[in-house]
Amino acid sequence: MCFERSVGPVLLLASLLALFTTVAGCDRGRVPRAQRLPSVDHFAPIAAPRTPRHASYKISAALDPATHVVTATQTLTWKNYGQSPVQTLPFHLYLNGFKNESSLFMRSSRGRHRSSRATENWGTIDVLSIRLNDETEVRALARYVGPDETVLEVPLPTPLGAGETIEIKMRFVAKLPEIFARTGYRGDFHMVAQWFPKIGVRVGVPGAETWACEPFHVSAEFFADFGTYEVDLTVPDAYVVAATGVLVAAERDSKRGVRTLRYRAEDVHDFAWMADPYMVKISGTAKLAASTVEVRVWYRPEQHRFAKRHLAAAIGTVETMSELFLPYPWPVLTIIDPPMDAVDGAGGMEYPTLVTTAGDSVYSRPGIRIPEMVTVHEVGHQWFQGMLASNEAAEAWLDEGVNQWSNGVVMERLYGQPGSVMDWMDLQAGLYEVTRASLDYPSSIPSPIATAAHAFVDNEAYGTASYQQTMLALRTLEGVVGKAKLLSAMKHYAQTWAFRHPTGRDFFAAISEHVGQDLSGFFHSVFHQLGGPELSVRSMSCRAAHEPRGIFGDGASRKVVTESSAPATGAYQCSVIVQNTGPLQLAVDIEVGFEDGTRERWNETQIGAWKELTFARSSPIAEVVIDPDDKVMMADPLPLRRRSLGDPRASYRSGARLGFWAQELMRVVGP
Ligand SMILES: [Zn+2]
Repeated sequence: MCFERSVGPVLLLASLLALFTTVAGCDRGRVPRAQRLPSVDHFAPIAAPRTPRHASYKISAALDPATHVVTATQTLTWKNYGQSPVQTLPFHLYLNGFKNESSLFMRSSRGRHRSSRATENWGTIDVLSIRLNDETEVRALARYVGPDETVLEVPLPTPLGAGETIEIKMRFVAKLPEIFARTGYRGDFHMVAQWFPKIGVRVGVPGAETWACEPFHVSAEFFADFGTYEVDLTVPDAYVVAATGVLVAAERDSKRGVRTLRYRAEDVHDFAWMADPYMVKISGTAKLAASTVEVRVWYRPEQHRFAKRHLAAAIGTVETMSELFLPYPWPVLTIIDPPMDAVDGAGGMEYPTLVTTAGDSVYSRPGIRIPEMVTVHEVGHQWFQGMLASNEAAEAWLDEGVNQWSNGVVMERLYGQPGSVMDWMDLQAGLYEVTRASLDYPSSIPSPIATAAHAFVDNEAYGTASYQQTMLALRTLEGVVGKAKLLSAMKHYAQTWAFRHPTGRDFFAAISEHVGQDLSGFFHSVFHQLGGPELSVRSMSCRAAHEPRGIFGDGASRKVVTESSAPATGAYQCSVIVQNTGPLQLAVDIEVGFEDGTRERWNETQIGAWKELTFARSSPIAEVVIDPDDKVMMADPLPLRRRSLGDPRASYRSGARLGFWAQELMRVVGP
């Protein structure tokens, strides 16, 4: 998911949006009408599993939309795929993060997430029964571990050996919060996510594995094993449902006024669903080299014109990412465009084969591609998290930042440069430019990119490092190794690690190996330290050129050269000193503009700590531009340009306006 920037102009803009938004979102006065039973999906089954399916769930759940409560039973079949025995099974109970103000989530978020605030309609999950293989009831033995009630540890009566499988049956009741931080209800709309007890992941050295099952923290997202999900969802007959996977059965119980829909998903690591009485759907087809994907967008009718934009963006993303990295492997992709009054809490989040989007507003006129940008980002997560299932709590940059870098490529391919995100009035910007403009140099780099989510000072620092800094670092790497080479290395990484849990170390190794270059210095400085280049023009000067004047020689040959005997030639002797006070040293291009309108470039100049260029010219220097083609996107743009006269910031006037928009754009794609 994506991050937020709370700044004055953004708050102002948010108020304006509230005033002028043309797409209202309110259930008052509406009456749910009976829905047709949906026809089931008929997709050819896949030939062979893509993953070992270590954690597979069968869930039967019923939603009561009046109380916003899901009552469910689930059976997890889990295999100990490590080489050491397992004594306990820890389960995430994410909804307990919304149980009270003492939970780690509420303390670390201070009750805020993006623009939404937690209300007193708290969320909870109560596990009522836990039965193991042999039907032994162990609920009474289970205990919460960690700082709150978001991880429940189930002790096993006897250790589960390496390679052994266990079945854990649970009964639970999930009470959804009023929509907040990706899950909950608003009016009749229900986004049901992080809703079932989900087992942790075994990580570490074979033979000495440990559990990765972190308590729920505002900056930490999710991490789970691949498996199959077979989920029966019972909802009132007036509700439509969209869910992870494909619909394999649908039946109605007219007496009870409910319908039960069975979904099946293969080789996924999570399951989320939406239930709502007013949503409608449009769909289209993404055409891949060897298959097709049905892309569906669910939306409220008043958001129809945005639904069409989301659909086009989603189809384009699936086709482009499939070509760039690896083919989208599932037959369906579902996009949910939440109602306007639920979007702050529900919009902009990714689950396997299902994402929620955002960005519908009067500001998203043609040429301002906020809706497209959000959809491209969330659909991009089908690769960087859905298939390359990194540990988001430990290394958020691996999915957020790598994804955002790839979003820049996709946006360029779909909408062209230079205005792939914004092409409106005199403002043109792509995703990299927007991202760079949204940064607040240099205070926005308080932590190295490779920092665990909970170890950032706050959600903003997490967002800056995990999204923007990572994206701009990879864009800078493009400049170092070449765009085509980095794209091909990224494809190599994606294909090598698909349907596994790659770490940062795996990422660095895959990229370096494919590029065939030692990039350890770059990766270490940029990802593990606070290290980017800090480039600036230290000085620029020109003096009128002439033969050297003064006293030359000794004795009889002594000669005095004066201004009149060595007059100015009309040319200038110039000097430019460029410095790099940052820890990362890169070769950069330097362009000098002269007062007569001519320009000259020094390409791929090694700066070191500093570099002086000296040259003769018929005209004095008007300006010096470091990195004129914006290859070093990690560098603060302001000191890269210096003019001999006038306000050096003048050229950034439009940049400042872009910054304002950029922060608003980032807000809707944020964590
Ligand atoms: Zn994201």
